[in-house]
Amino acid sequence: MWIETVQWLFERFSEYALSALSSWNGVVAALGEIGGTFTKLTSGLAWPYVLASMTVAGGGYLLSKPRAAWSTKSFSAFLFPAQVLAHPSAKLDYRFYVVSTLINVFLCVPMLVGFSALIGKIGRVVLVDYAGWAPPDTLSVPALFAAALGFYLLHDFMNYWSHVLLHKVPLLWAFHQVHHSADVLTPISAYRAHPMEFFVTATLRAPVIGLAFVFYQAIPAQEIAATAVFGVSLVGFLYGISGFHLQHSHLPISYGPLLNRILVTPIVHQTHHSNDPRHHDKNFGVKFALWDWIFGTLCVPARHERLQFGLAGANKEDFATVGKLYVGPFKRAGGLIRRSLASGPFARSQNAVRSEGL
Ligand SMILES: [Zn+2]
Ligand SMILES: [Zn+2]
Repeated sequence: MWIETVQWLFERFSEYALSALSSWNGVVAALGEIGGTFTKLTSGLAWPYVLASMTVAGGGYLLSKPRAAWSTKSFSAFLFPAQVLAHPSAKLDYRFYVVSTLINVFLCVPMLVGFSALIGKIGRVVLVDYAGWAPPDTLSVPALFAAALGFYLLHDFMNYWSHVLLHKVPLLWAFHQVHHSADVLTPISAYRAHPMEFFVTATLRAPVIGLAFVFYQAIPAQEIAATAVFGVSLVGFLYGISGFHLQHSHLPISYGPLLNRILVTPIVHQTHHSNDPRHHDKNFGVKFALWDWIFGTLCVPARHERLQFGLAGANKEDFATVGKLYVGPFKRAGGLIRRSLASGPFARSQNAVRSEGL
C-alpha cells in the first residue's frame, strides 16, 4: 500500500515538476509568464505596483528635501543613485534575477501548482471525508472579502514562521544567507533567494492552501471573481500598491509608528537586512509587520540611524557569483551536517554560524 502511495506521489511530482518542459505548449506558457512580468497583476513587478512604489519614493523625496533643493537632477539622483544601482552587489542581483526567473517559471511554479493540487486533495480527505465539514456553497460579498483577507493574513502568518525558521535553524540559514548577502538593496534584491527557501515556505503554507482549497471548492467561480480587482483579490491589489518594492531599496522610508507596526514598510525590512547585531533576528514579517509586533520581534530604528547591509563576518568571495549563490549553500549545509554528525546534534546558534561566515 505505502509503495503504491510513494509511487503515486513520485509520478505526480514528476508530472508537475516537468510539466513546463514536457510539451511545446508548456514552454510557451512558461515564457508567457515571463512576458507578463510588467503587465500581469499577479506579477510583483506589474506596472501599476511599480508606479505606486515610485509615487511613494517621490513622496519621500518631497518630504526629505527642502523645497529650494527640488530639481529634476536631484530627484533622479535620489531615486536612482548610481552608487547603489551600479554597485557590484546590485549587478549580481540582476544576473541572479535572470537565472532565478527561468528556474521559477520552468520548475518552481509548476511544482507549486502540483503541490497545491495535492494539498487540496489531502485537505478534502481530512476536512470533508473524515471531519465531516461542509464548506459553504455561496457567500455574501462582505463574507467573501472577509475570507480573502483572512486567508491572506493566514498565508502571511506562515510566511513569518517560515522566515523565523530560515534564520533559527542553521541548516536553513545556510540557504537564507544568500538573500542577506546583498550589500546594497534594490527592488531586484528581493529575488535574491535560494530555491530551497521555496520548499520551506511552501511546506509551512501547505495547511493554509489545503484549507482555502476546500473552503472555496463549492463557491461558484463567478461569485469569487466578483470580489476581485482586475482579476486579483482586492487585498492582494491593495498590498501591490503599498510601495512594497521599497522594502529592498536605499530609501529608509517610514510610514509612521502605526503603519510600521502593521505593514512591512521599507524601514522595517531594511532593518531586517542590517548587519548590526542589534538588528539580528528582528522583523521577520514578509508582508505584515503585525506578526513581529505581536511576537516581540519588531524593531524600527531611530530616524538618524544609517543601516549597513550584508553579512557581517562572511567571506564576500563566497557570495560573489550567481553559481556561488546557488551551489555554495549546499556545500556549507553539507559541511554543517558532516561536522554535526561528528560532534553531536545541531545545537549551534545562528550567531555561531554567522561568526564562521557559513
Ligand atoms: Zn531574513
Ligand atoms: Zn529581504
